[in-house]
Amino acid sequence: MTVQERIKNRKIGIIGMARSGLAAAMLADEFGGEPFVSDSKDERLLGSQVERLTALKIPFETGGHSDRLLGCDYLVVSPGVPLEIDVISRARQQGVPVFSEIEFASWACRGKIVAVTGSNGKTTTTTLIGDIFSAAGFDAFVGGNIGLAFSDIALKVPEEGLAVIEVSNFQLQTIDQFTPDTALILNLTPDHLDRHATFDDYKRAKYRITENQSSEQTLIVNLDDPEIVVDDMATRAAVRHFTTGDHSQALSFVRGDVLYARIDGTETPVIECSKILIPGPHNLQNAAAAVSAASLYGVGIDVMAKVLASFPGVEHRLEKVGRVAGIDFVNDSKATNVDSVCFALRSIDTSIHLIAGGRDKGGVFEKIADYGQGKIKGIIAIGEARDKIFSALGQTFPVQFAQTLPEAVKQAFGSAFPGETVLLSPGCASFDQFEDFEHRGRVFKEAVAELRNGKNENEALTQR
Ligand code: ADP
Repeated sequence: MTVQERIKNRKIGIIGMARSGLAAAMLADEFGGEPFVSDSKDERLLGSQVERLTALKIPFETGGHSDRLLGCDYLVVSPGVPLEIDVISRARQQGVPVFSEIEFASWACRGKIVAVTGSNGKTTTTTLIGDIFSAAGFDAFVGGNIGLAFSDIALKVPEEGLAVIEVSNFQLQTIDQFTPDTALILNLTPDHLDRHATFDDYKRAKYRITENQSSEQTLIVNLDDPEIVVDDMATRAAVRHFTTGDHSQALSFVRGDVLYARIDGTETPVIECSKILIPGPHNLQNAAAAVSAASLYGVGIDVMAKVLASFPGVEHRLEKVGRVAGIDFVNDSKATNVDSVCFALRSIDTSIHLIAGGRDKGGVFEKIADYGQGKIKGIIAIGEARDKIFSALGQTFPVQFAQTLPEAVKQAFGSAFPGETVLLSPGCASFDQFEDFEHRGRVFKEAVAELRNGKNENEALTQR
């Protein structure tokens, strides 16, 4: 079926009015479909989206999901919407097909799709792959769970172009024919279990990324992650690997201090690992993953090396914010679980003043002691998880409390010496005090900017 046949004159119920839902509605409209957008939130909270839909004359409802959705030919569900909600269950009972937004967008995408999934590192790796393709002269568009929705970019990708998209397991749960030319599974750790009954369910959702691939297409997996079991996947794809070890079969691997790619079967050095700008062992994995994907499309080694030496990383992920009075500030607000905090600690070589806390996601903070021994000089605990952090780590490190993040920044600055690092790596969700992790990261950066402007410097220096 062509994309026109699937969309034109079809009644398409779109659930969720945020970025992806809005983009899907516009895509449906573009192909002559009849989108109807529905969101459970109150209209007052959906200001700009409501304006946009009104301007486009696309019908919508807010404050709940009506039965009008059940009269649609199919439903398109935004990634943030739980599949268990009543209207989706009823639609399924009545035989109304339910698709994720990436499935829907993929119908309109003429170019090849490179799709990245995994528990951690998706945004970094997806962005890096996009940058490498763009530097190599491809018409590459990056989106999915980051920046632009897949529906935003799908139509822009020309036949010979590439859509590089980050896909979450929520999106993969309701695919039908979504078929990436190259699929990557970076790693699997038991995060996000709130929306999946078990780790096995979570893995099964991730494995769906490859279920429609043919033998001409490629699945790339992390050889170092024993949780990724290719035998448990229904795949016909050619399976390839990346690793940060030395492996004779892998598409990209590390020997000594050099990251290699296997180009047409030949081991080819790409770059010395120490020259890769994004720091830490986990980012070496991301770099290896990106190189393995790029090597399948004939990207030159020099292009890969140049991008890896200059790619600064993505905002809020071990982002170097700057240096004030010789003290480095690093924003790792995206580290919403304890594993990410441990990765951050391994990635920084100096003494660290760690700002952690927020809304607890059931984190085992004791783990931080293993990675932080000899490195963490002090912890400033914030948010709802403060007491739990104190109980878990107060015996091992000095732990102070702060009411707010800007206060924590001041306190850390007051305790730190030149050559040391103040690291925001919360290990918790942000929703107790912030809109989201981006908001938390911005507040951190503003607090650092204030220090830089000298507003609090004298105060902090006197405290020291
Ligand atoms: P995602 O999009 O999957 O959430 P990001 O690229 O945004 O991943 O990185 C989020 C956090 O996860 C980073 O701050 C870092 O602490 C951690 N991280 C990044 N890459 C990896 C990796 N390959 N393995 C484990 N943790 C990682």
